[in-house]
Amino acid sequence: MDAVLQLGTRVLAPFRGTQQEGVVVERLDETDLAPGKIKDISNCLDETPTFSTDLLALTKWMAEYYVCSWGITLFCAVPAAVRTQKEQKVQLLPGAPAPRGKIQKELVAFLEAEGELSLNQLARRVGVSYQNLRPKITALQEKGIVNLDVTHKPKANTQLTTVATLALPPADIEAEIDRLKGEADGSEESSGPRPTSRRYVAAAKHAEILRLLLDEGVPLATADLTKRVNTSISLLRTLERRGFVHITRAQAVRNPLSSEPIAATQPLHLNSAQSMAFAEIQNIGVSHTTDASSFPATECPPTFLLHGVTGSGKTEVYMQAMTEILGNGKSVIVLVPEISLTPQAASRFVGRFGERVALLHSRLSDGERYDQWHRIQKGEADIVIGPRSAVFAPVKELGMLIIDEEHSDSYKSDTVPRYHARDVAQKRGELANCPVLLGSATPSLESFHRAKNGDYRLLSLPDRVLGRKMPDVHIVDMRTELKKGNRTIFSDILRSSIEACLERREQIILFLNRRGHSTHVFCRTCGYVERCENCSISLTFHFETKRLVCHHCGDKRPTHPTCPQCSSPAIRYFGLGTEAVEQEVRKAFPQARVKRFDADSTTRKNAHQQILETFEQQKIDVLIGTQMVSKGLDFPNVTLVGVIAADTSLNFPDFRASEQTFSLLTQVAGRSGRAELEGKVVIQTYMPEHYCIAAVQKHDYLGFYAQEVEARGALRYPPFSHVGTLLLRGKDEKQVEEAAHAVRDQLQIWLTDPAPAAQVPDVGETDVEILGPAPAPLSKIEGKFRWHFLLRSNSVERISQLLKHLADEPPVAIKSNAIEFVIDIDPTNI
Ligand code: ADP
Ligand code: ZN
Ligand code: ZN
Repeated sequence: MDAVLQLGTRVLAPFRGTQQEGVVVERLDETDLAPGKIKDISNCLDETPTFSTDLLALTKWMAEYYVCSWGITLFCAVPAAVRTQKEQKVQLLPGAPAPRGKIQKELVAFLEAEGELSLNQLARRVGVSYQNLRPKITALQEKGIVNLDVTHKPKANTQLTTVATLALPPADIEAEIDRLKGEADGSEESSGPRPTSRRYVAAAKHAEILRLLLDEGVPLATADLTKRVNTSISLLRTLERRGFVHITRAQAVRNPLSSEPIAATQPLHLNSAQSMAFAEIQNIGVSHTTDASSFPATECPPTFLLHGVTGSGKTEVYMQAMTEILGNGKSVIVLVPEISLTPQAASRFVGRFGERVALLHSRLSDGERYDQWHRIQKGEADIVIGPRSAVFAPVKELGMLIIDEEHSDSYKSDTVPRYHARDVAQKRGELANCPVLLGSATPSLESFHRAKNGDYRLLSLPDRVLGRKMPDVHIVDMRTELKKGNRTIFSDILRSSIEACLERREQIILFLNRRGHSTHVFCRTCGYVERCENCSISLTFHFETKRLVCHHCGDKRPTHPTCPQCSSPAIRYFGLGTEAVEQEVRKAFPQARVKRFDADSTTRKNAHQQILETFEQQKIDVLIGTQMVSKGLDFPNVTLVGVIAADTSLNFPDFRASEQTFSLLTQVAGRSGRAELEGKVVIQTYMPEHYCIAAVQKHDYLGFYAQEVEARGALRYPPFSHVGTLLLRGKDEKQVEEAAHAVRDQLQIWLTDPAPAAQVPDVGETDVEILGPAPAPLSKIEGKFRWHFLLRSNSVERISQLLKHLADEPPVAIKSNAIEFVIDIDPTNI
């Protein structure tokens, strides 16, 4: 092994007969392993270690906290585009004997014609699946006909393009620009021989090109340069011939924001609430990272919770805090929910900070992602904006982590490792000794509780900027509408508000948290319900495709004209989805331009962005959407928000149902009247008396918090405890149920019997409660049956340790390959 291999470096190493990508996490001078067991590392994949010591420590902590392997957390911390991918090439061996079988002959023929081919290419050529091809190749290998070569190659790489740079010092260029301008202006002189107008234009363009190169001070891609000056490459070549520019091949950064120039913005004058919040961040947060003497290393860096109503100017506070941090030579990571990571939102940061911003989001190509990641690692970008995975960005000298909309459940990963970016950010802040700034109009109950306890510093922006009012919220009891004989989906007040709004040529957002047309399709005669065969849920009817769709596994099937159970023709469609709302709106307001904005209408690439742009240009009057319309949209002409049915999420069997409904409704309501025009919100509900709905009406987070925290305390749910869930799933219903009971017995023994409990490290005397087992609310998904447990304790470490112990040593009764364990620590949905 190379003596200078640093910790955090990615390497290739032999593992069970293949080469695997791994990370150097520790160096040992001695080991008990037999010398024959120790293998050499085959190859080093990094020049600079991919993982800093902080990131090594962070991922190690995550593995323990979230009960998974360190390898998994390490590789979730780097984008796949930065890693290598396995490539399996098949080569024909020289002088190989001819094979026998038909397919084998075909394979050899392709290899003879095209040279080496990858397994996937070969499978496509011969028209068999990869799985079927594999054994045939092995057979050919054994007969000495072909060789299978496994290599790792980078998934993406740096890209070279043609760039232009200045060939002379700035003073000479300035002089040439002056001369060129004079030449271009020569058109106005009347005496002397008149140059052709083409020459004036060329001179002017030449001056423009040189000016751009001089002002930007960096090599510019020739394609970009000619586009910006609106000219052709030949003018650039002339400048090259005259010795003013060099044209070379160099690394180009694929910039996801490049096309449109973004106007630069200056810091705004903060209002008094913003100033107070900023001053506290400045005095306590920024100085924490710079003035080590006043904050001993043992003291944890502070976490701030910026609680500000929608439109109160939180982003301006973030940006001014960022300026301070950057001024001290440090970097900042800003997390935003993926759904609100629109170019519109990102451009606010780019407008203020320009080129130093790196943008990470799921729509980047591999090449773009590769470039952004390397810009960050090299320190060329010291601001990173991205969704939850950006918490791992390899910035130099981290100075602050900002989490906007910190309550958003998009920060919780729903695949292994099931981490919450807010908690990971806190840990990363601790390791880097830098503050964390959380912001939200509707903070998570956990965060606000910590702020009230003094663990976090609470900063408040109670009002919208510039004296703008919060929108008026009207609650409509739909039971009363029904009594009045109104059977449509619009209450009288919502209908008249839409009419008035359309008349004023202002815009409307209608919100409903369910896609599709009808959510229950059933037989009136026998009660048969159309259900997914793989999952335990009823199917949603999609009008546009005339299909029944499972919103869990995506399975589709045609509708039945008569009941498959009793043949009755009385099939009825119940429950409302966005498609049905769209139809109703078109019927009731034929003059309105209507567009639906949900996962179904935005599947095409860029459809999402196109709809928002059209809406922004006021070519759409009514936008109908799911929670996709709730976040981050800032359209000054929207003055009416209608919530078609507020109760859809309030009845979920989940202890966070009220919290999630409150924040969703508050965010949706916050889209109305954001600029000069006053806004209105109409919320239709069957539960007007619910404290969640009442609090939304009064924009009363504190009132909601007081009620909700009491309910949580009474039931000992977070923030008064930690919970972890264990889900068991398998194809055989009975086996799953039996496994669940075996697990329960095992856990009981560990918790009650002092002797075996001693085997569970640190569990000992414990307050851990086990709730369950019970069938999970979605008792069958994708053909697998599911039972679950909830573990509750004051100490999250105890839950993690107990579940780890269980995963390592499952009860003997469980046939381990038939039953999967899914562990979720601090779940956001139960
Ligand atoms: P939030 O993030 O709290 O919803 P924003 O940061 O989006 O609020 O601010 C809403 C609007 O108010 C933005 O257009 C922003 O430019 C403007 N704004 C913020 N702070 C000020 C200020 N101090 N003076 C004037 N306008 C402001
Ligand atoms: Zn029937
Ligand atoms: Zn399904």
